[in-house]
Amino acid sequence: MKTPFYKIAVLLILIISLSIYFLKRCPIEDYKQTAFFMDTRVDVAVYNTSKKQAETVIQAIFDEMQRLENILSKHVSGSDVNRINEAAGRVPVTVEPETILVTSRALEIAELSSGAFDPTVGPLVELWGWGTEKLKVPSAEEIDAVLPLVNYKAVKIDKDNSTIFLAEPGMKLDLGGIAKGFIVDRGREIAQQFSVKALFVNAGGDIGIMGKKPSGEKWRVAVQSPRDPQKWAAILEIEEGCVATSGDYERIFEEGGEIYHHILDPEKGIPAGELASVTIVASESMLSDALSTAVFVLGKDKGMQLLENLEGVEGIVIDKQGEIHVSSGLGDRIEIPQDE
Ligand code: AMP
Ligand code: MG
Repeated sequence: MKTPFYKIAVLLILIISLSIYFLKRCPIEDYKQTAFFMDTRVDVAVYNTSKKQAETVIQAIFDEMQRLENILSKHVSGSDVNRINEAAGRVPVTVEPETILVTSRALEIAELSSGAFDPTVGPLVELWGWGTEKLKVPSAEEIDAVLPLVNYKAVKIDKDNSTIFLAEPGMKLDLGGIAKGFIVDRGREIAQQFSVKALFVNAGGDIGIMGKKPSGEKWRVAVQSPRDPQKWAAILEIEEGCVATSGDYERIFEEGGEIYHHILDPEKGIPAGELASVTIVASESMLSDALSTAVFVLGKDKGMQLLENLEGVEGIVIDKQGEIHVSSGLGDRIEIPQDE
């Protein structure tokens, strides 16, 4: 017996109405939220998903970032980094696996950059007053007094016992040049665990991208012009991965008519002077974060040489004169807007 036409029509209308109802209730869209961790604004965008999934994933990412800040920030009392610093020259301190991971990576990059990146810059950072209200230019004597304490080779990591030890009293670990990158990496990992299709995280210039853009186009990441926040110095096209920028305009103060910034040359104890900004593209955000700081300190020649020697890492170096230098592997993935 044939089903009467009107029954099929009613069924079809019912299915279409229900689909419209559910699509309206749970639209597949892009969602974005902002929070603050490690003294930095963090934006997380999840693409092509339901509101419920987006909220669950973003909450999981923010919870993890908060947990990591409590471990890795020197500004949180009782954090691993604080306890390590308080025990400097005395005893090894038992820490979380993430502290071992980030500190080990920091020491690797210190080694790679011949100490231009040094996670023991803590005493210098404090001497200049970064992280406090009292920013000031220290005297040459004050700088000379703390320079011997800046020495990444005196950080002892015992992976078997999960401890970290700073060999000299007064030494201070400062993971400010790598920890933001790490929280971005964790964000990407969590999004993968939740099977999110696409994610964009930006932690104060440390960007992590996972998955394909819903439109199918490549992601475009703009690099700010160091001397004009309204302009782009370059635009990068990337499929997936991480981009980080270190610039002499990010954190600054003025004294005696001079501007001072927060990226310190661990050898001289003063802000690194040659470059205006460095942008690094890599597959890991911890690496792009730490390398942007390292290359900034190394300067154009040594910095570009380091980038050319590293597999899977590219970079854009902008010097104080505004000249843009691009590593050879970026090819047609970079666009440099011309001034009109
Ligand atoms: P970034 O903005 O990623 O370049 O990191 C700058 C932060 O890293 C500073 O605020 C300091 O906490 C820390 N830092 C400054 N100079 C260095 C350096 N030469 N090596 C490692 N960390 C540094
Ligand atoms: Mg950095």
